[in-house]
Amino acid sequence: MNKRKILVTSALPYANGSIHLGHLVEYIQTDIWVRFQKMRGHTVYYVCADDTHGTPIMLRAEKEQISPEALIARVHAEHLRDFTGFHVQFDNYYSTHSEETRHFSEEIYGKLKVAGLIAVRGIEQLFDPVKNMFLPDRFVKGECPKCGAKDQYGDSCEVCGAAYTPTELKNPYSAVSGATPVTQSSEHYFFSLSDPRCAEFLRQWTSEANHLQPEAANKMREWLGEDGDNNLSDWDISRDAPYFGFAIPDAPNKYFYVWLDAPIGYMGSFKNLCAREQIEFNAFWQRGSTTELYHFIGKDILYFHALFWPAMLEHSGYRTPTKIFAHGFLTVNGEKMSKSRGTFITAESYLDQGLNPEWLRYYYAAKLSSTLEDIDLNLEDFVARVNSDLIGKFINIASRCAGFISKRFDGRLVSGELYQQLCQTVNERFPGWRPDLIEKAFEEREFAAAVRQIMKCADEANEMIHALAPWEMAKQPERGDELHHACSLGIQLFYLLSRYLKPILPGTAKQIEAFLNCESLTWPTLQSDQPVSDLLLPAGHSITTYHHLMTRIDTKQIDALVIANTQSLTAVHPTPAPIRHAGKQQHAVMPIAETINIEDFGKIDLRVARIVNAEHVEGAEKLLKLTLDIGSEQRNVFAGIKSAYDPEQLKGRLTVMVANLAPRQMKFGCSEGMVLAAGGGHPGELFILSPDSGAQPGMRIK
Ligand SMILES: [Zn+2]
Repeated sequence: MNKRKILVTSALPYANGSIHLGHLVEYIQTDIWVRFQKMRGHTVYYVCADDTHGTPIMLRAEKEQISPEALIARVHAEHLRDFTGFHVQFDNYYSTHSEETRHFSEEIYGKLKVAGLIAVRGIEQLFDPVKNMFLPDRFVKGECPKCGAKDQYGDSCEVCGAAYTPTELKNPYSAVSGATPVTQSSEHYFFSLSDPRCAEFLRQWTSEANHLQPEAANKMREWLGEDGDNNLSDWDISRDAPYFGFAIPDAPNKYFYVWLDAPIGYMGSFKNLCAREQIEFNAFWQRGSTTELYHFIGKDILYFHALFWPAMLEHSGYRTPTKIFAHGFLTVNGEKMSKSRGTFITAESYLDQGLNPEWLRYYYAAKLSSTLEDIDLNLEDFVARVNSDLIGKFINIASRCAGFISKRFDGRLVSGELYQQLCQTVNERFPGWRPDLIEKAFEEREFAAAVRQIMKCADEANEMIHALAPWEMAKQPERGDELHHACSLGIQLFYLLSRYLKPILPGTAKQIEAFLNCESLTWPTLQSDQPVSDLLLPAGHSITTYHHLMTRIDTKQIDALVIANTQSLTAVHPTPAPIRHAGKQQHAVMPIAETINIEDFGKIDLRVARIVNAEHVEGAEKLLKLTLDIGSEQRNVFAGIKSAYDPEQLKGRLTVMVANLAPRQMKFGCSEGMVLAAGGGHPGELFILSPDSGAQPGMRIK
C-alpha cells in the first residue's frame, strides 16, 4: 500500500471559554478521520493548540486578578481534559503562547516585509481615556445609528441587524471602563492583500485542485470579485499596547493581532511535536512538499483560512494547505444553542452527568457529511438512535451469541469443516460487507453514509441470527454443531462491524479487543480477488467472557443534562458581561434587559416565603432542596445555591419566591417555583434575597 504522510489540524479554541457540544462537532469529526487514516497504516499527525492572545484574554485575566499566563494555563488544562473525555486524541495539544509560534510569527512577518507586502498607515480608532487603551469593536457600546437601540456593540446592531463602524455609534461608551471614548489616530501594520500578487495567487489557489469544497470556493469567488477588480482590502495585523500577544519586531508598543498568530499556531504545535518525536518539520512545511496538510475548520472562519492563511504562507516561502475542510454549525432541537433553554451544553457537564461520550461521537458521525451544512442534535432522536443502532443492532449481536460460545464451546469459535462452511455463508450472504464503500465514505468525510452502510450490515447480521435462532438450537442437545456455527458466525460478523466502527467508537473498540482476544482491530482491506471471509478471525479462535459493552441511554439522563446546563449558566455562573461603569465596580454588570411595562411585571407573582426546611439532594452537584411556606401552602423548590449556602443556615429564614412559575419536572423531583438570588459571576458568589423584618409568609411583592 502507498503510505501517505498527513498533517491534520482542528481550529484552535479560544482560551477564554469552555468547550461545548458545538465545538465538539469539529474535534470529533477530525478525530474520526484521523483515527480512520491511522488504522489504515498511514502516518498521521493531528495537532491543535489553545488560541491564547488578544484583548478578551487580557481583560478577563485582569478581572480575575491573575496573569494572562495563569489564565491560559488553567483553560488549557480544562480544554485538554474535555477533549480527552470525548476520546479526541491529539498528537500534540499546545498553546499559541509559545516560543515556536513566536518564532514563526516573526519569521513570516519578516519575509512578508522583505517581499514588500507590509504597509504602515495611520488609522482613526476609538480610545478609552480612562483605561488608556484602544477599543476593539466589541468593546465599544452605544446606540445604534440606524434604529437607536441602546447597548449595541460597535460593529453591528442586534436589534435591526445594521452593520457599522464604532465611530458611527451614538453616545458611545467603553465597555471596559464606561468612559466616553475619544477618537485617536495610531499607526497600524497591514498585510497588503490588495497587492496584485496576492489577488492573483488567491484567485488561482481558491479555484484549483479542490483546495476548497465547492460551496466554499463559490464564497471565495464572491469575496475576491471578478478578474480585474480587486475586492480585497489590506488586512490590519497590528494592535497597540496594552495587548496580550507577541510584540512586533522593531515596532515599539505594537503587537501582532491574535488572528495573525492563531494559524501560525498550527506550525508551532507541530514544531513542538517534531522536537519531541524527531519528526522532520521541513518535510511537512517546505514549498513543494509531497506530504498532505489538512485544516478542519468551522465555516465562520473560512475567510482567515482560505484567504489570509494561504497568502501568508505563499509569500513567506512555505507550502500551502492541501485542502481546507469546513463544516457547518450545531443546532440543538432545531434551534441555535441557548443558555435559557439549557441547550448550550458544555462538554464538562455532559461527562459529569455520566453520559457516554461515544453516544455523542456516534450521533455526530451519523449526521456528518462533507458539506458546510449545519447539523442538528435532536435530543429525542439522539436517545432513540443510539439505543436502536448501537445497542439494539450492534452490541446486541455479541450479547446474543457470546454466552453460548463461552458456556458450551470453551470460548472457541468453529474450526475445520464448520469454519469452511462459515466462510462460505459469509461470502454468499454478505457480499456488501466488503470495505470499499465504507472506506470511500470515511475518506471523503461522508460519515453519515459510512454509518448507514455499517448499520445496513448490522441489520443483515441480526436478520440472519434471528432466522437461525441459536437460543432454540441450544434447547436441543443434538444441534450442537449448528449452535456452534450460528454463534461463531454472529461473533465473526460482530468482529467485522467493530473494525468498521472503531474510528467512531475507540473506547468500546478497546473493550471489544479484550473480549475478542485480538491485539488491535485494524482497518479491513481486501484485494478485488479476495473474498470477504479473508477478513474474519482465524479458525478455532478463542474469545474471552462477554461483559456488557455499552448501556442504553435513559431519557431521564438527557433531562438532567438540560437542567444542569440551565442552572449552571443562569443561577450559578451568570454569563460574564463586560463591566459597564467606571471606577470602583469590581463585578461584571449584566446589561439591563429589555424594557417591560407594568402589566408585564404584574404577571410575575412574587411572594414572601419562609424556608421551613433545606437539605442536600443526593447526586446533585449544585442543588439544595428547599421547602417554602407561603402562608396558604408549602412548596418544594430546587435551587442552585449549594455552592454558597449550608442548608442549616437557611432554615427559618424569610426569602422571596416566584410563586406562579410553571412547575418543572427535574431529575430529583418536581420544582414548584424559584427563589430569587443575586450573583456576581464567581462560583459561590450568590446572595438570596430577604424582606425587612415584619414581612409575613405569603405577602405579595409589588
Ligand atoms: Zn439598530
